[in-house]
Amino acid sequence: MSGDSSMAIAAPSNMRTNKSAVITILGATGSIGLNTLDVIARHPEQFSLFAVTAHSKVAEMLAICKQHKPRYAVMGSETAASKLRTELHALSLNTEVLVGEKELVAVSEASDVDVVMAAIVGAAGLLPTLAAIRAGKRVLLANKEALVMSGQLFIDAVRSANAQLLPVDSEHNAIFQALPQAVQQDSISTSFQEHGIRKILLTGSGGPFRETPLAEIASQTPAAACAHPNWLMGAKISVDSATMLNKGLEYIEARWLFNCNADQLDVILHPQSVIHSMVQYIDGSVIAQLGQPDMRTPIAYCLGYPERLASGVADLDFTEIGAFTFAKPEAERYPLLQLAIDACWQGQAATTTLNAANEVAVAAFLNEQISFGEIAEICTETLQKANISPLNDIEAVLNCDAEARRIARKHIQRGR
Ligand code: NDP
Ligand code: MG
Repeated sequence: MSGDSSMAIAAPSNMRTNKSAVITILGATGSIGLNTLDVIARHPEQFSLFAVTAHSKVAEMLAICKQHKPRYAVMGSETAASKLRTELHALSLNTEVLVGEKELVAVSEASDVDVVMAAIVGAAGLLPTLAAIRAGKRVLLANKEALVMSGQLFIDAVRSANAQLLPVDSEHNAIFQALPQAVQQDSISTSFQEHGIRKILLTGSGGPFRETPLAEIASQTPAAACAHPNWLMGAKISVDSATMLNKGLEYIEARWLFNCNADQLDVILHPQSVIHSMVQYIDGSVIAQLGQPDMRTPIAYCLGYPERLASGVADLDFTEIGAFTFAKPEAERYPLLQLAIDACWQGQAATTTLNAANEVAVAAFLNEQISFGEIAEICTETLQKANISPLNDIEAVLNCDAEARRIARKHIQRGR
């Protein structure tokens, strides 16, 4: 589709039934994207697929097109798009292949679309996610980096477009489920006092290096960092879980999604990953959401809200779990967690900078250009060197993100 992004991508007239919701899945070939397709396929009468997007994985996208027959597939490059077109043509499949960032925005804001699953990894998801919000869609937010890097601007856009934002991230989904219904209607404006809420308890497993001797952490390999004890996820979030920056990004995400201050947010280690997070009330009650570590539960919750949908997730067997344990995260083991918490209260430029530096560092670590220990060094140094001043619009956010990437890349080049 060429030209203007306020385009007229139209769903075929036979696509929408009275009850079915029309969906775009951003990042369909990823871990969240594939889990979303799995849940949708269990409810063909309730959902129809408008568009799916990927960056470079042609074979995975072809498999999705074969099974789910979306109207549009968006790829990140012309090379990937033309390969996909050839393969689709050979199979007589008529999914139309689009290419590039403009088309990501177009399939997110298209007037026929009701629901957008935002599951691109990293900053690349910001503009299409914002486009869906500005178009007033129901946005299922997995792409936490988009919110971390644009915070107040993102939340203001949700408010002014009257979009519906539902958290897919399992912790935020758990918190959402444990909040009173009145708060769920407008969680981004929550008043903790008005609703008798004391605080949010954000749980995290501590990742694969929770018990690794401290002296051995800096030299851990990408394979070890990606071997999460409980969750099967994409590579970037797996590394973030090993550093616990993921929990730091989630802390920032919670701050925006639930409008809380520093006294209203705590992080607790819970290695079993069965309690997905909790809300503590002023009468002493704590309400938690529990479940298998399987993202199909929060995805199904968001897709069906306020109804419940079957997700294919196995029932929880408490006798198999045996025991729940809890601990405080150790500062020396997870330096990036505190860095993120500090950045959260420092202001937008700090969280945008941290997110960008981390994306560059994690990519370099996965490419074996830097050690695991250098991820924290790069994030810390980039935050020290960056210009931390107010960011008043998305252009300023993108400039801040680009500047942080330059600083982080310089650090990597220096060390080579
Ligand atoms: P994956 O790496 O598995 O998938 C990422 C998806 O984004 C793929 O479809 C990929 O396409 C696409 N993509 C990558 N880079 C770009 C780009 N530059 N432009 C457009 N598309 C791109 O990630 P996950 O599914 O694990 O995570 C997705 C998001 O959800 C992240 O923000 C993560 O933090 C969040 N999340 C994930 C959870 C999980 O359990 N996995 C849990 C909670 C949150 P391609 O396949 O072609 O590379
Ligand atoms: Mg999470």
